[in-house]
Amino acid sequence: MKRVLLHICCAPCACYPLEVLRKEGFEVFGFFYNPNIHPYTEFLKRLEAVKKFEEIEDFKVIYMDRYPLEDWLRSVVFREERPIRCQICYSMRFEMTASVAKNGKFDFFTSTLFYSKYQNHETMRICAESAAAKFGVKFLYKDFRKGWKRGIEKSKEYNLYRQQYCGCIYSEKERYYKFRKINE
Ligand code: SF4
Repeated sequence: MKRVLLHICCAPCACYPLEVLRKEGFEVFGFFYNPNIHPYTEFLKRLEAVKKFEEIEDFKVIYMDRYPLEDWLRSVVFREERPIRCQICYSMRFEMTASVAKNGKFDFFTSTLFYSKYQNHETMRICAESAAAKFGVKFLYKDFRKGWKRGIEKSKEYNLYRQQYCGCIYSEKERYYKFRKINE
């Protein structure tokens, strides 16, 4: 049985990819590494949701025991605009996943980010392939977006925490901030 390391950005996005990879006969291990998530309380909510999902689905998830937000912020400073910010964010997470996959002798790595309709799919593919080449491990490309509806249904059935923005402080502003004069 081939082993795949599935980078998990959040529990709802993992529902469909885990289902489909298992159906295809892979032994799936999760990997939670997301230093982009801000603030820390939001990070904890998403982490807890992944732990709940791990228990429901009975599979093993590897967790990074650190929250290196400072490293993530340093890597995007002065490059806070999209698409460059997201490109850096994808690469950082894929490179860590590829490195863990290499050390753990996994056959492949992939990511639940390929489930999202809101990410730049082609840019992610380039970043993941480049991480694969850098660490000498295979990237398993899947367009998980086709299971969008199924994933939502399953995450509701499992009652998983669903976040309202992508993850970083900039995406939180993009989601909620509407320009208005102070003291208006
Ligand atoms: S919007 Fe999402 S993918 Fe882009 S930098 Fe922020 S957290 Fe990363």
